[in-house]
Amino acid sequence: MPYQYDLGFGQKIYLENSGSTTVITLASGSPGQQQQSGTQVQTGPWTEMPQAARTDSGVLLRCITAQGVFIWQVQGTQLRTADTAAWSAQQAVSLQPTEAMPSVEPIKPMAPIEPMAPMTMGNMQMSAHPMTMQMGDMRLSMGNADTPKAKKFCTQCGSAIKAGDRFCGSCGHPLQ
Ligand SMILES: [Zn+2]
Repeated sequence: MPYQYDLGFGQKIYLENSGSTTVITLASGSPGQQQQSGTQVQTGPWTEMPQAARTDSGVLLRCITAQGVFIWQVQGTQLRTADTAAWSAQQAVSLQPTEAMPSVEPIKPMAPIEPMAPMTMGNMQMSAHPMTMQMGDMRLSMGNADTPKAKKFCTQCGSAIKAGDRFCGSCGHPLQ
């Protein structure tokens, strides 16, 4: 069960012991516009309920586990480990159990990659969808790129000729 501590000004701290990990979440802002930051620390299972204490320099959090005492200092939205000597037992209050752990927004799947504009470098051209790459006369394509038409050659002299040519541009040999 997570525990929460209300810092005021719409800022709350949530602590949860998940297995041997202590999950600390700082939530601030109004509902719908919540900002969250947090950290996960390998502390081992708690042996005592977590506590918080207000000090001159901010708020301290304390967890006690079989591995020892863990103190964190909260200043604004920053969370950092603090020396156990910083702990102020006089100010300590127990954290309140809470049902509502703020739902950390799931990591959004990567946005689909925008179709890439053809990229030209010298005589090399690349484009995506379908992936084609052209370097000079060489053309590579992946996916469903239309296959380049097979080149024709003059049967007389072997020069490359264009489809539809009636005569070879090199030797004038009549074609087709
Ligand atoms: Zn020819």
